[in-house]
Amino acid sequence: MLINNSKKIVIKLGSSTVVDKKGKFKKEWVDSLIKDIKKYFKGKEIAIVSSGAIALGQNYLKNKSKKIKLEMSQAIAAVGQIHLAGEFQKIFDKNKFKTGQILISLDDTEQRRRALNVRRTFENLFKINAIPIVNENDSTATSEIKYGDNDRLAARVAQIIGADTLIIFSDVDGLYDKSNKKKIIKEIHYINKDIYELADKKINNYGSGGMITKLDAAKICINAGCHMFIANGKKNNPIRNMQKNKNYTCFFPKISTLDARKKWIISSLNSSGKIYIDEGAAKALLKGKSLLAAGIKKVTGEFKKGENILIVDEKENNLARGLSSFTSLEINKIKGKHSKEIDNILGYPSKSEVIHKDDMVKL
Ligand code: GLU
Repeated sequence: MLINNSKKIVIKLGSSTVVDKKGKFKKEWVDSLIKDIKKYFKGKEIAIVSSGAIALGQNYLKNKSKKIKLEMSQAIAAVGQIHLAGEFQKIFDKNKFKTGQILISLDDTEQRRRALNVRRTFENLFKINAIPIVNENDSTATSEIKYGDNDRLAARVAQIIGADTLIIFSDVDGLYDKSNKKKIIKEIHYINKDIYELADKKINNYGSGGMITKLDAAKICINAGCHMFIANGKKNNPIRNMQKNKNYTCFFPKISTLDARKKWIISSLNSSGKIYIDEGAAKALLKGKSLLAAGIKKVTGEFKKGENILIVDEKENNLARGLSSFTSLEINKIKGKHSKEIDNILGYPSKSEVIHKDDMVKL
């Protein structure tokens, strides 16, 4: 089994796998997971991304409403997260494992410098043999700057820390085949529109994710060189069950020559703006050249230097992603101009490429 060869594994637990229908933490299930980790993943570096803060917080505060306003969900998550971490800590302690909590905000993974800091924190936790327990920092996240679902968060974490495997435990066996709803697809090597059509659009009670966000997560993993599994986490001993039944969907990564930085660029979850380029520039770009001002037709969005930008053709087909060497304001001034003119137009010395090829990945 592929998992047995993995050195670094991220395990993502959906709200319904760690919190029961009454809103109680599933102690026995989590204990069985930790015992499985001990038995099957000995010597591996493990990180857990667990949802459940809002579900536990709601139960504690006796808040039964299904639709919660953002301000209230931030407060509920703050109350629930401390319970969630406390419950994990007790079970880890009982099983003689160290643990540490990491709460992540969108910018922590989407800004390169912060992403490197995140990676270092994980590395240091692994060094002291502690298992990181991760969740989104729901208490400060606002709807504009939020993952909203832990599937993509887990995939981005897996990519940033260089994990070989991400296992998503949820309440389904995997991605179901359209022609036979009882049968899951065992292996997926690429994700296209047809795969997205297989996804059930339904979202379960507590969770914010669903099959769509799992496929988004799989896309990140495929580009990052990380296997991703969707497996059922309803029954105790979920890892043993996976090993025994082999009933799961596995997404295989593509063989990639991209370095860690480019893997990070391609999987960016948000883009601060779009640069529209002409046909000539598009051709140059496909040949691996940098993006110059001369080929730029239009720019949308407001962004600073170093932000992640989408490069599209005039028909809005996505061509590449890259880190801009100029602000959106500057690009507006220099678009269509020859590189030699840039310093004069801006009135200060600047780079000659708008997005350098080393900061760009073709899509
Ligand atoms: N971060 C949310 C929580 O802990 C869950 C997000 C999700 O369902 O993926 O409640």
